[in-house]
Amino acid sequence: MGITELPAVQLLALLEEGTHSSRDITEEFLAVIARDDPNIGAFVRSDADAALIQADKIDKMRTAGKPVGPLGGIPVAIKDVLCTVDEVTSCGSRMLQEYRPPYDATSVSRLKKAGAIVIGKTNMDEFAMGCSTENSAFHPTLNPWNPEYVPGGSSGGAAACVAASMAPLSVGSDTGGSIRQPASHCGVVGLKPTYGRVSRYGLIAFGSSLDCVGPIARNVEDLAILLEVLAGPDEKDATSVQADVPDYLAACREPLEELKLGVVQEHFSEGLDPTVKQCVDQAIGQFKALGATVTNVQMPHSQYAIAAYYIIASSEASSNLARYDGAHYGYRASPSDTQSSRDLMSMYRDTRQMGFGAEVKRRIMLGTYALSAGYYDAYYLKALRTRRLIAQDFSEAFKNVDLLIGPVAPTPAFRIGEKVLDPLAMYLSDSYTVAANLSGLPAISIPCGRTEAGLPIGFQLQGPALSESKLLRAGNVYQQNTDWHLQTPAAQRQS
Ligand code: GLN
Repeated sequence: MGITELPAVQLLALLEEGTHSSRDITEEFLAVIARDDPNIGAFVRSDADAALIQADKIDKMRTAGKPVGPLGGIPVAIKDVLCTVDEVTSCGSRMLQEYRPPYDATSVSRLKKAGAIVIGKTNMDEFAMGCSTENSAFHPTLNPWNPEYVPGGSSGGAAACVAASMAPLSVGSDTGGSIRQPASHCGVVGLKPTYGRVSRYGLIAFGSSLDCVGPIARNVEDLAILLEVLAGPDEKDATSVQADVPDYLAACREPLEELKLGVVQEHFSEGLDPTVKQCVDQAIGQFKALGATVTNVQMPHSQYAIAAYYIIASSEASSNLARYDGAHYGYRASPSDTQSSRDLMSMYRDTRQMGFGAEVKRRIMLGTYALSAGYYDAYYLKALRTRRLIAQDFSEAFKNVDLLIGPVAPTPAFRIGEKVLDPLAMYLSDSYTVAANLSGLPAISIPCGRTEAGLPIGFQLQGPALSESKLLRAGNVYQQNTDWHLQTPAAQRQS
């Protein structure tokens, strides 16, 4: 197995033993990016020289015996929704394609402080709206297991780059499933933390009451190390949770005691692909074999989760995206572009017409409609009430069980182009993931099987607020007893 197929925990051991430098490791990943990314499209930008400068700096510090931080010398890819100082942060949008933020997102500054090497910015659906990364204004990302299929989205680039051995770790964002669903489709692990566990400062806003930053990796131990770096209170984000950050790696290595799992009945009904069902059932069987007790749980309002999510997320997006007017940020249509931007109103209109893609416009229209006088009560307010009921379903469930187990997405990865013309079919990809965002709860996606065509399938564990340690522990025990996470597209091609 090559260096680039190793998880970060093992790479850290190589660095500590001194058998490899950060330059050695970073060069290996950069070589895979140079060789394979033209075919996958996981990155929108990767600056090899800048990465190697960072690697050399860490190597020097290590040789001098200075502390290098918990990720000292490890390459990390960053979804292009997170601001990186003076470096283009385009959020998958033409609107921001030349935007260079004057500051780092808190998660980015924490990564840098922890000694991580920023190896590139990853592709995504425009403004994180989508389930397939086909809504990127630049290019689609292909699934590394089979290039005819989507990698999922909106963090498709972040999940694909880990699956394709272009980075051992990546950071994504999850507003309705955008870490978990691409992780599932690409056969890697992803965690959406409790709302506020990781600061949103410098995360380009989509739905502010739903948005979360979180880690993607090859295995659960790597998730734990990365989460520990990202998590924690931040004075720049008033919604960040004021709670100490546990030693997640130690927590995930503790033995699993008396785990009570609940199976959400509503997630196993109509619309669930039979192969996905079979793989998730097998994972449930594994947990039983490991001593967990499994009971059925009802979430009576889960059928309304998609409707409530798309009203709330779009309403918040319509407000958040009002700032892109050609005056404050990024792209501005000029009269020569359109022949018409001669006064202020036409400049606004033309900028938004040309700067945003179709899905973003659809969400802005949907959200503006739901918030408008006369419709506010019927749609937005009703969605907020539904959100409360969904959160109550979780509270009820967690009176009897520790964690909920079920599928991440109703189907495995679908074909490129299959759902682009059918937004409602696309939205259903989020059927099992949005409830955690609506309720602010943590959830993890873990590989548990593959389709006949070789595409990965994941299962999801959801827990109460701040139960990340428990999710990681359960996930780690599962991975110690299975080998889905050890399989890679590269190994598949060789076999
Ligand atoms: N697919 C969902 C959407 O399009 C979720 C996106 C996300 O989590 N960023 O809204």
